[in-house]
Amino acid sequence: VTETSSPGDSLLQSLRDIVGAQYVLTDTHDVQPYVTDWRGRYHGKASCVALPQSTEEVARIVRRCAAAGVSLVPQGGNTGLVGAAVPGYPQDAHSASAPAPVVLNLRRMNRILHVDPVGNAITVEAGCILAHVQNAAERHDRYYGVSLGAEGSCQIGGNIATNAGGTGVIKYGSTREQVLGLEVVLPDGQIWNGLRSLRKDNAGYALRHLFAGSEGTLGVITAATLKLHPRPRAWCTAWLTADNIAHVLQCLARTQSLVGERIATFELLNRRQLEIVRHHIPDLRLPADPEAPYAALVELTDTDGHARLDALMERILGELLAAGLLRDAAIAANSAQRASFWRIRHGISEANRSHGMGLSTDVAVPVAHVGAFIEEASAEVLAEWPQASIVLVAHLGDGNVHFIPMFSHADWAALPKREETADAVRARVHDVAARFGGTFSAEHGVGFVLAGELARLRAPLETALMRRIKQALDETWLQNPGKIFS
Ligand SMILES: Cc1cc2nc3c(=O)[nH]c(=O)nc-3n(C[C@H](O)[C@H](O)[C@H](O)COP(=O)(O)OP(=O)(O)OC[C@H]3O[C@@H](n4cnc5c(N)ncnc54)[C@H](O)[C@@H]3O)c2cc1C
Repeated sequence: VTETSSPGDSLLQSLRDIVGAQYVLTDTHDVQPYVTDWRGRYHGKASCVALPQSTEEVARIVRRCAAAGVSLVPQGGNTGLVGAAVPGYPQDAHSASAPAPVVLNLRRMNRILHVDPVGNAITVEAGCILAHVQNAAERHDRYYGVSLGAEGSCQIGGNIATNAGGTGVIKYGSTREQVLGLEVVLPDGQIWNGLRSLRKDNAGYALRHLFAGSEGTLGVITAATLKLHPRPRAWCTAWLTADNIAHVLQCLARTQSLVGERIATFELLNRRQLEIVRHHIPDLRLPADPEAPYAALVELTDTDGHARLDALMERILGELLAAGLLRDAAIAANSAQRASFWRIRHGISEANRSHGMGLSTDVAVPVAHVGAFIEEASAEVLAEWPQASIVLVAHLGDGNVHFIPMFSHADWAALPKREETADAVRARVHDVAARFGGTFSAEHGVGFVLAGELARLRAPLETALMRRIKQALDETWLQNPGKIFS
């Protein structure tokens, strides 16, 4: 139920005093976008949405909510995929008499504070949109290594809190690996200023890593110092098609041997995924063999603008073809073609959202086991739910597979117990991943959607340690309740 319920006039008045009345949203219509997730699957509730403009304002809000015993949900671009930023969800994490949480959205804290091209670092407020950080780095001839489909709307604070991955992990690592320093408002309202830009700092525990992947449960990230990299000046993008995953894995391994760190992207898609994207973007043309069971988008980059990457790519593809590993391949001849290759990859989320009920998963297994995992997971899911089709998109170099059992809207509507079915399908896929030494969450986090899976699949000692950390930082458990822990 989407609704607002009053947290008490005095708290609302305090929040208005702190950020200004126009930046405390209470009207149901205004609050709506902040209490519903991007896919429109989860509808939470909030007492209000507060839009602070400074760290000091965040600290005052946190202290005021703590004093009133009202829970607080930090929020960025609200593009997360596990319901972690949806307030008041799940309902049983909130007592019926407690006021609904306050959403603290950081979109007004969007300043680039400092760019240091010599030290290769950028310091930004947590509400900066990812694409703006990428652009600021480029203006200083540097590159920020995180790239994902939601980059036009997700925020750096959200990226850090989810430890976001994306298409550049194979070369630059995930968001955690970009974080040099952080500023965080702790659950008691104290401000921890750890905005150091050092590459080497072994002075005790690396506290910044606690907040990477903490999903708003340990404090509010208000600013970050992030690693920058030299800007690539040469690109070569190719589209490969293959008969099976074993061949694609060999293509990946051969390419890595030949070009090392120049691989910037290696994304796998299956034919079903490509059919769906083409159905929803009819003017889209596949660069090579549309009938192939698998395709891969591969990109090489180099900081040397004179590097002959296309010649290198031609040589690699020649070798792979000669070894019988490829059905067909195409190299983008210019930047328009490169953009059209990427349009296929970036069209996936929207196409899948419109197409049906995709029970998206986010597993990772050791790279060498990706093929066996896909085979076993497909067999198990289709044996029990034959009406589903298996849609695959994978950051193959990271062993990260979005294994998506897709149901048509009609088939989904016909199922009697849909929530239970969704949980059962995901659990089946997670169990197969676990058998291969994998994880049920590679880059999206836990949120409330996967909180039960964390309890089920991780060793009790591991979850007990997590709870002790949570308890130590957030004694009253008012920071984003119901998330990570079930
Ligand atoms: C089209 C599309 C493509 C995507 N592709 C990828 C992908 O390739 N890889 C990937 O990893 N993810 C992907 N995502 C998921 C999503 O974009 C990421 O999880 C992103 O990092 C979330 O950022 P956000 O600002 O939207 O955070 P939100 O959704 O607002 O919040 C996510 C979590 O972070 C917490 N949080 C937000 N801001 C703060 C803060 N300042 N301090 C403390 N906690 C905070 C929230 O409480 C919540 O727990 C995709 C999403 C979409 C819609």
